Amino acid sequence: MTFNEGMQIDPDRVSSGGGPGMGGKIALGGAGGLVVLVLALVFGGDPGSLLREVTGGTTTQSAVAKTPAHCKTGADANKYVDCRVVLTAQSLDSVWGAKLPQQTRKAYTPPKVQLFTGAVNTGGCGRATSAVGPFYCPADRTAYFDTSFFQELVDKFGSSGGPLAQEYVVAHEVGHHIQNLLGDSGRAAKSAQGASSGSVRLELQADCYAGAWASYADKLPAPGSNQPFLKPLSDKDIQDALSAASSVGDDRIQKAATGRTNPESWTHGSSSERQKWFLTGYHNGQVKACDTFSATDLNNPPALR
Ligand SMILES: [Zn+2]
Repeated sequence: MTFNEGMQIDPDRVSSGGGPGMGGKIALGGAGGLVVLVLALVFGGDPGSLLREVTGGTTTQSAVAKTPAHCKTGADANKYVDCRVVLTAQSLDSVWGAKLPQQTRKAYTPPKVQLFTGAVNTGGCGRATSAVGPFYCPADRTAYFDTSFFQELVDKFGSSGGPLAQEYVVAHEVGHHIQNLLGDSGRAAKSAQGASSGSVRLELQADCYAGAWASYADKLPAPGSNQPFLKPLSDKDIQDALSAASSVGDDRIQKAATGRTNPESWTHGSSSERQKWFLTGYHNGQVKACDTFSATDLNNPPALR
């Protein structure tokens, strides 16, 4: 169990609800044909889940409730997966709130985090279903999680099921928020597919940022506490994160689906690359070590050499 039991969960940190039929729609009109970027953890072979065409010109308000009521402390985060998402988000806020200004001179403003079931109306990326997997919408600066994905990660993608596997997923999506704050979110749009595409580089960078978070999460004291959010990470914890990163590699997903790999259609990078960039962030802890856009060989990150 990764969290220090006494950590306090912020009752206002996340929104929850947003399931099918929840929330009122506010029609704005006139925004037809707008292409918006959704940054997901995993890409299940549906290009529409990466670049969604918002044709309706509507935006919606679907967040209704706050942090689930049973989430109070680190002990709850160790026990319940939804509480784990919330406290992981708080740990990410704490780490990036300290490290981003130090390393980049850019201020950190926390992303919104929304838990949902089934489907959700976003505030800038249209309507998304759980089939997309966890995702970040740059337009509304919100990371979206249907916690049923974490079981899918094990059952469907073959990841190990430890807590850091799940926390890696949250940290990856917040990694996309860091990219948004640094003005890098659009760098995938120029080349959306292929083994060395902008999309793959953006995704591997989010994995690297997830590793950077992990390098501080068990050391940096939580706000108002002398304890960090996480207990010291063990080798098994890191193996769980690597297992999750590996399980959502393009080559592994393609092989499972079709028996072959097709690097020309990659959007997230191979299992090997995803693990190596997570480790790069973990060993280095620096934003600048995560410069996947300058890397000549994505399977051989400079900082790991
Ligand atoms: Zn992603």
